[in-house]
Amino acid sequence: MLAVIIVILIIWAVMWAFYKFMYPRAPKSMMPKKGDVTTPRQCDFCGNSLAEYRGVLETKPVSVEEISAAGLAVSDSGSDMKGHKELFFCNYEHQADFHGGKTYQADA
Ligand SMILES: [Zn+2]
Repeated sequence: MLAVIIVILIIWAVMWAFYKFMYPRAPKSMMPKKGDVTTPRQCDFCGNSLAEYRGVLETKPVSVEEISAAGLAVSDSGSDMKGHKELFFCNYEHQADFHGGKTYQADA
């Protein structure tokens, strides 16, 4: 009986070591740091949802005309927006694409 337990423990230890080797822990930079916002947000370019700290958040004052020109829906519920449109992107590439070509894809 003891041998069975020992064998199981050895197998477990070997498996643990194997997975530790195969899948090393994600680098520190990938892990959420203290103060990072982990709330999921949707990319304004491709519609992919991503934790806020992983992507690019862009806050700048934008006129309503510009928002409608970009084809973005202006919600009347956000009365506290005061002309500030918050944009979120997966990465800088999507941010650049969004501002470069004015094509807005809701679900791509
Ligand atoms: Zn994106």
